[in-house]
Amino acid sequence: MKKVRLATVWLDGCSGCHMSALDIDEAILNVARRADVVYGPLVDAQEFPKSVDVTLVEGGISSQEDLEKIRTIRQRSRVLVSLGDCAIAGNISAMRNQTPARKLLERIYVEGAQANRVIPTDGVPALLRHAVPVHEFVKVDLHVPGCPPSAKAIAFVLDELIEGRVPDLRSKVKFG
Ligand code: SF4
Repeated sequence: MKKVRLATVWLDGCSGCHMSALDIDEAILNVARRADVVYGPLVDAQEFPKSVDVTLVEGGISSQEDLEKIRTIRQRSRVLVSLGDCAIAGNISAMRNQTPARKLLERIYVEGAQANRVIPTDGVPALLRHAVPVHEFVKVDLHVPGCPPSAKAIAFVLDELIEGRVPDLRSKVKFG
């Protein structure tokens, strides 16, 4: 049986959703038997590959770089999953939205700095005006809520998607 090509992406999130995905314990062996992880923080791939079957996205869209990435990822992914509340609703990444980005950067890098009081620009992606959910820019096929989603929920979703089924996340009892 052909293995599913699986990717995970870390945009403007805290990595907690990825940590929860790693917390699926022995279920990870079950995933590894049926899927190849072709991209993600744990994989040494610089460029998002073509023809990915399932991509889990952690984090909101906060920068120009995030925006370019998510557009490419959407084009190259058959099923795109927003994993966690930052990807789904902005959540923690959107807490900055009340303050203009320039003011925020000045507060952190100039007013709050003890030395080298300058806003970094070299190699730093420009912030968007607001941090927003993934579905504001691209079509999302499935939302897996939680901050982070439980390991049980992630294991269930992976299992269903790898088997080519649409996960039914309505059963709260299942993940309680
Ligand atoms: S949803 Fe929660 S755990 Fe996941 S990236 Fe956002 S803040 Fe972190």
